[in-house]
Amino acid sequence: MKTNITYPTTTINYVVNDIAELSAHRMNDKKEVVFYYGSQILGTLVSGMCAHALAKHLSEYYKIPARVVFTGLENEGGIVKTVNGIKYSRMLCDHQPDGLKRFQEFVDSFRQMFTSVSGLSLIPTETNFYTDLQTKPLARSTLLNIIEKTDSILLLLNPLRKQIGVRFKCPECKYIDKHYRTQELLEFILKEKAIFRNECFEHGGYTRVLTPYNDEFFDVNGMVRNVIKEVVISSESETEGIYPVIVKGRDWVPTAIMVSEALELLGYSYEKRLQRMFTPLVLDWSGAKLSKSCSAEDKKEHAPFLSYPDLMSYYGVDGIEKLWVEVLSWTKDTRKFYRDYTTDFFTLLFKEGLFKPGIS
Ligand SMILES: [Zn+2]
Repeated sequence: MKTNITYPTTTINYVVNDIAELSAHRMNDKKEVVFYYGSQILGTLVSGMCAHALAKHLSEYYKIPARVVFTGLENEGGIVKTVNGIKYSRMLCDHQPDGLKRFQEFVDSFRQMFTSVSGLSLIPTETNFYTDLQTKPLARSTLLNIIEKTDSILLLLNPLRKQIGVRFKCPECKYIDKHYRTQELLEFILKEKAIFRNECFEHGGYTRVLTPYNDEFFDVNGMVRNVIKEVVISSESETEGIYPVIVKGRDWVPTAIMVSEALELLGYSYEKRLQRMFTPLVLDWSGAKLSKSCSAEDKKEHAPFLSYPDLMSYYGVDGIEKLWVEVLSWTKDTRKFYRDYTTDFFTLLFKEGLFKPGIS
């Protein structure tokens, strides 16, 4: 394993000297900067730390308070079953009989990580959930706008399935037709309502109504969810004098461009959109991103990196602190931030805290 590291310059390193300069032109008169990020594998521990490190750096640079908001997805880790070739899923919190308990454990596993990282950064952190987001009238009316523009926006938000990814639970068993194969849009009135019909494998047909002000729970695919989330965050931030930044792993760049273009189609110009910052990825030897969906063999090999509890059990608090010092240093040098890192890099970092630094 090599122990020297190089930090080559890439295009962005010629554009700014300090990562904070990317926000300068829109930071006027803002009273706070808020960073949003989500999900939980080591890649996410690294991006979560990046969110905190960026928050700390921008807070010091602009001399305003900063906060980190974790945007939780309570439908992750849910139950999936296939009936007659159609996939149905049930959110973790809806899965009986111990759904609520399992959902709580799921939330607690995130809290451990936030508390740990927040203790190092001294940046306050809080959690928002999708369930709260989708009840907001602006979220619901944005979904109606997306449905209205289906023809033009589909190529950006769901070219694979050629349908806007919105779905509703069966009122009896809470299962959702995951890919809306049985779904029909029965009625649509611009800005007012959409009525959908779905088919449950057990309870037959059911209709659901979406309006800006009702409380019928809707689930959406990731692309639609991100458009809605960014509209709501941008709008609320503007009202509150907040500068919003969304933090994601660099693997999100291609889809973030599509989300951005969808926002343009919905009438949100650049000035009305939030800033996005993409964090370095954690890669295996071949350059593949470590993911919770990796094979059993990969899981064995990368066990220390796959979750916050695993990382703690292999490297302890000392490992977390070393990681924090390293990640914080990335935000001070664009050559360190705009690149990716392999598991070999982290193995050496955790074991020896060693890298001969700063060669470019
Ligand atoms: Zn049902």
